[in-house]
Amino acid sequence: MPTYEFLCKKCKKIFEVSCSITEYERKKKKGIECAKCGSSEVLQQVSGFQVQTSKKS
Ligand SMILES: [Zn+2]
Repeated sequence: MPTYEFLCKKCKKIFEVSCSITEYERKKKKGIECAKCGSSEVLQQVSGFQVQTSKKS
């Protein structure tokens, strides 16, 4: 299961969301909330996370 790292802009805490890709897409639509303060002002951290590149057509 992939782990997604987020930085909360409000409390400056980094938290991880571990879920399947479909679950993650669902969460993104609803809005990811900070695990610490519940703020939805979060930034996804890309360092240490391998982004799968889609094929260019
Ligand atoms: Zn927060």
